[in-house]
Amino acid sequence: ASVMVLRGVRKTYRLGEHVVPALQGVDLDVQAGELLALTGPSGSGKSTLLNLCGLIDSPDEGQVLLDGRPVDARQALAATLLRRDAIGFVFQSFNLVPVMTVAENVDYPLFLAGVPAAERRRRVDEALVQVGLSAHAAHRPDALSGGQRQRVAMARALVKRPRLVIADEPTASLDSHTAEQVLGLMRRLAHEGGAAFLIATHDERLTRRCDRVIGLLDGRIVRAAAPGDDTSRH
Ligand code: ADP
Ligand code: ADP
Repeated sequence: ASVMVLRGVRKTYRLGEHVVPALQGVDLDVQAGELLALTGPSGSGKSTLLNLCGLIDSPDEGQVLLDGRPVDARQALAATLLRRDAIGFVFQSFNLVPVMTVAENVDYPLFLAGVPAAERRRRVDEALVQVGLSAHAAHRPDALSGGQRQRVAMARALVKRPRLVIADEPTASLDSHTAEQVLGLMRRLAHEGGAAFLIATHDERLTRRCDRVIGLLDGRIVRAAAPGDDTSRH
């Protein structure tokens, strides 16, 4: 099933008289349970694409569909509610709150969503088990390694049981062994839990093991292939 679909999406930024085309007609279909890598040089449109899929920004032309329903990110309240329920975000720099414990960091999205306390506790425990950090629930992020912090960020993204997890360079600040662990965790969560992962990355260690790789250049998809498969379809 398609979780996120982009159809004929165009996006142009205007800076005074400068017109910067960021996406020039992009079609994308992210399936439930898949790890989809998004690659491309700086300026190719990756951030813009992630912002559209994250319902943070809206296209000038074309359609964005979440679970088959068209979404208009310009309708701020509706987009915020959809984003809160259906989309998790993971960043290169983890973005954990340093004065909160691991459990409090993971709980935060549920707290913001007004989920009752007993259910929050249950879901936080469950998310920490999924990422293997139950023993660290009461620690603060600065007591953890980089890989552990990224797993906390993953638990925080997953605690809402999102349909789509958007990850921006999630392994860029991790050593190879830790990157491998985080990747293994994402694969397990996608393949067993059914969430879709859209991952912007330059990391070969990561793209190799995604289910599909999409390449962007100058705002267009130039390569869509299975990892390790060099035949271009576009
Ligand atoms: P990355 O390649 O790591 O995504 P970028 O330098 O492309 O980093 O973009 C970083 C941030 O700056 C993004 O949020 C993007 O929207 C913004 N940005 C990029 N280019 C411009 C620009 N020409 N003018 C204003 N903001 C920009
Ligand atoms: P990437 O993430 O692959 O580096 P971006 O989506 O950030 O690419 O940028 C695509 C193009 O849009 C680039 O030419 C960039 O300079 C431009 N751009 C991105 N954000 C902005 C912005 N807020 N204002 C103006 N131009 C932008």
